[in-house]
Order: sequence, then C-alpha cells, then structure tokens
Amino acid sequence: MAAQSAIHTSASLQAANAPTFASMEGQLDPALLRGLKEMKFDFMTPVQEQVLQRLPSMGSDCLVQAKTGTGKTIAFLIPAIQNILQYSTRKGQVSILVLSPTRELAVQIADEAKLLVSKFKRPIEVHTAVGGTTKESALSKFKLGDPKILVATPGRLNDYLSEGNVRAKFDDMKTLILDEADRMLDAGFLPAILQILHALPPKSGPKGQWQGMCFSATVPPKMEQVFAHILSKDHVAVSTIDKSEPPTLAKVPQFSVLIAKVEQTFTALYSILEEEIKATEGVPKIIVFGTTAKLVALYAKIYDRQLGLPVFELHSRLTQTARTRATAAFKETKTGIMFASDVIGRGMDFPDVSLVLQVGLPADADAYTHRVGRTARAGKDGKAILLLTEAESFYLKANRQFPIQPYPHSDTVVNDASATIVNDVLQTIEPEVKQKAYSAYLGFMKVATNKMRMTPEQLVGMANVFAVDGMGCEEVPPMEKSTISKMGLKGVRGINYATKSNPTPAQRGPASFAKATQAPPKGRNGPRAAKSSEKQFPSSNSMLARPRQQGRHRGRGGNGEAEAW
Ligand code: ADP
Ligand code: MG
Repeated sequence: MAAQSAIHTSASLQAANAPTFASMEGQLDPALLRGLKEMKFDFMTPVQEQVLQRLPSMGSDCLVQAKTGTGKTIAFLIPAIQNILQYSTRKGQVSILVLSPTRELAVQIADEAKLLVSKFKRPIEVHTAVGGTTKESALSKFKLGDPKILVATPGRLNDYLSEGNVRAKFDDMKTLILDEADRMLDAGFLPAILQILHALPPKSGPKGQWQGMCFSATVPPKMEQVFAHILSKDHVAVSTIDKSEPPTLAKVPQFSVLIAKVEQTFTALYSILEEEIKATEGVPKIIVFGTTAKLVALYAKIYDRQLGLPVFELHSRLTQTARTRATAAFKETKTGIMFASDVIGRGMDFPDVSLVLQVGLPADADAYTHRVGRTARAGKDGKAILLLTEAESFYLKANRQFPIQPYPHSDTVVNDASATIVNDVLQTIEPEVKQKAYSAYLGFMKVATNKMRMTPEQLVGMANVFAVDGMGCEEVPPMEKSTISKMGLKGVRGINYATKSNPTPAQRGPASFAKATQAPPKGRNGPRAAKSSEKQFPSSNSMLARPRQQGRHRGRGGNGEAEAW
C-alpha cells in the first residue's frame, strides 16, 4: 500500500518523460542510488533533473528556483554529497554546511539527508545546530563526532563559531547551501550570514574554492549583489518557473473572502472551516496561517474543540519542545487543523495538507506564495483561501499575479449560527490572551496603515473594535507605555494606557477573569453586533478615506515571523 501511493506520488510530481535516478548510474555513487531507492524516489522531479543534468560538475555553484514542494531538498543534497565523495576528508571536519531560516526546517532537511546517506557503508554523519535546544549536548556531539553534514540556523551557528576550536572544524568545508536563499539574504538575516561567512574559510582560499548553492521558490529581482557573497560570478542559474506563469502552483485553486469588518474575523473563520471540512472528500488536513504568534494562539484556543478535528499550534512563543512536538504530530496526523505563524510558512513538508487558509495580510507577496506552497506538495492536490477585511483588500489589487478568485460562499460566512458558537467560546478565554492578541494585531497592522489609507487614529479605532466586538473584551485592553512607543503609536487617540490603577490583564492576574466570566457580555461577534460598535469606534469601512503617514519597515524575528508584540 505504501509503495503504491509512493509510485502514484512520483508519477504526478514528475514530467511524463522524467528520467530515473537509476539512469545516473556511473555518475552517482551506488550508495546514493540505493538511498534514493529506499526513499522510493525513482523518477527525478524537474528541478532535480535540471540540477543533475545542467551543472557542469557536481561541485558547481548554482542559483536554483523551482516551485514549492517540487523536491529542491534532494536537488541540492545529491550534488553536494556526490561532490564531497571525491575528497578524502579529515575526520571531524564539516564538508557540507546547509543553512535554513527556521529550526523546524533545519531538522527536516537533516532528516532527509540522513535517509539519503543511509546506505553508505562508512557512515556519513548528519548533525543539526539549531536554537531553542540545549547547546551543550548538541555541541559536544558535534565536537566529538565526524559531522560531514551540518544543517544549522544562523543564530545557533554563530554561537558555535564563536569558539575557535569549532571554527577550525570548517577549514575543509566544500559546500555551503542556503535553502530559502532569498529569505536568508534579506535584511533580517543578512548580518548573521555575513558574520558566518566571516568565520568560515574564504570562498576562494588556499584550500581551493568552496561550492555555493542557493535554492528557493522565490528569487526577487535585484538580489545579485547579495548572492555574490555565496556564488561565484560564473554560477549556473537554473529555473523551472516560466516568467509568465503565476508564482504559485497552477494546480492549487485559490480564493479570497472579503469581510466588511474586522470584528467578523472569528465568525467568518469558523464558517469557512466548517464549510471546508464538510466539503472535503477524504480527510481534511488544514493549515491556518495568522499574522502574529499571539493571534495564532488565540485562534488555536477558539477553535480547539468546536470543529471536531484535532488542533495543533505552532509559533515562536511556544517552547521548542512544544514546537517540535507539534511539528512531528502534524507531519504524522492524517487529519487536523494546524494554527501557525510564518515559522512554518516556508519549506516545511507536512504530507497531504488539503487546505491552506490565511487570515489577515501576508507579510508580502512571497509570503503568500510560500504559505500556499504548504499544500499540493509532491504532486498532490490542494486548495488555498485568503481571508481579508475590506480595509486589507489592497493586497489583492497589489498582487494580481496570483490567480485568486472570489470564494463562492463569501456571502454567508458571517452568520448568526457561527457567531453564537464563537461568542460562547470567546467568553471562556482569558482576557490576557485577548489583550496580547489585540496588542499583536495593532503592532502588525501598524506597518500597513499607509497601504490601508488610514490615519493612526483610525487604525487604533479598528483594533479597538476588533478587541471589544470581535474578541469580546470588556474594554479596550490597556497597553503598557513602552509597547505603545515601540509601535510608534504614542499619543494616538483611542489607546488605553496601562497605569497602576488600570493594569493590563497580565498584571491583574487570573482572579479578575473568574469574576468577569460570571456575567459575560453576549452576542457581540456576529452581524447584529457590528452595528453597536459603530457608535463607539469608526468602522473599518469608514477607514479607507485619507492616506497618511509612511508605515515603518516591517521587522522580522529570526523565526520567519513578523515581529510579534
Ligand atoms: P521543496 O523544497 O521544493 O519545497 P521538498 O524538497 O520539501 O520540496 O520536497 C517535497 C516533497 O516531495 C517531499 O515530501 C519529498 O520527500 C518529496 N520528493 C522529493 N523528490 C521526490 C522524487 N524524486 N519523487 C517523489 N517524491 C519526491
Ligand atoms: Mg524546500
């Protein structure tokens, strides 16, 4: 059964006349070919075919662009591994270094590499160096072992490289690979990458040249300069994407739902999930992407038991143990809903995701492409939905390259039945969780103020409606002065400043919540509720009026996530 489904997968992922890996006998080491056979990979995907057949040698530098879920990992691992086999490397020396933007992706790449080298008689050790784990145990294994392949995230690797004896283990490095290369070289990561490069042997040194490989589904124009840090001038550029086609997978139907008001978000999300679960033939396996960690945490709490599917949660505010557990469980499960931030927006390979649902603005155009790419991987089917408010609809106009259609059930996603269910749950959720979600929302949306043609006052008004009418907060949640300043919202009307006598829910503690739940406010989240809010705050619709103030550049943490407040 397993073998059959693997054959089916291969058949639909590859072109009709795809060459087999077996046809590379003589060019690829027999142990590599046995590893591929063991993984049930018989035919090359187009990017694997291009890389293996277009590179002048297995040690050539390359910049490779291919769509999400088309097998780029194997496409960089095979040449890099084949390349190092010609050298007699010293024990304890790293030969291949792979850099990844997130811990989860680093572990996934290492797992794939381990399978690929599993048939070598003399074991090729694959190590990881990622944050969130105790450095000491992985580092001592790394120091004592023979880590021919190291997959790392930049932060932890820089930690490692601060020790001279660790740095020396990279003296013979033969290949440096940047997966999600455009992300690794963007403003958020570039300083860390430059620091790493500074500690590594020079690109062309006394020991020869190391091979540079950059892979991604998205390669924004004007990146030549940064690629020059990794790639030689005569590198081979490979792309399996036609410039005239949309950047997302053609086989993924993509829809948008526009809701009038931000406070309808939770109701609409509930209705869409319910509809999609009902409509799924087979088993629904859904990823819901939210804009920030704190909003994702709130979604996970709201929809935990209502939809009859197991719920998973993954974002930067969880412990690494919880992140690792959620990743493994969602890879394993046949069905369920994963609520996630951009921590898993790129690269992650969860088998058989049937739907990707994005709530709120993706960080940019490429974020949309990568998130959609979590479905329809390895030739499978998938579907994508983007839920936006009218105020956020500029995103669709600014990104017409995506084949996004209006969602057929748009008119009915805000309804009383869903609103009632959602409101009941919201009353059971701690004010602290809501306050954090409110603050996160405000921080995230601040950067889009200009694009939404809003004034800061209108933005705060919209966030306040979201908190009071959407989340069912008793009042506009108080925020600490320092947070407000960091967001650049000091002095903006509508903000509730926390003081000693007006503490935030976190400062107040859980006792106040027990009291609040005895007489919960009712029915504020549905279509009826929207009216009452308009009296207190400007509605999101009325906010489309005046263009104002340039938004701040959106900073991102090393987690691939938009900065969470
Ligand atoms: P990308 O990096 O392009 O997004 P991945 O390398 O994560 O894609 O691969 C996507 C999926 O396809 C993975 O589950 C991987 O195991 C599978 N895969 C890769 N190469 C092949 C192949 N030649 N035949 C069948 N499945 C493959
Ligand atoms: Mg990948």
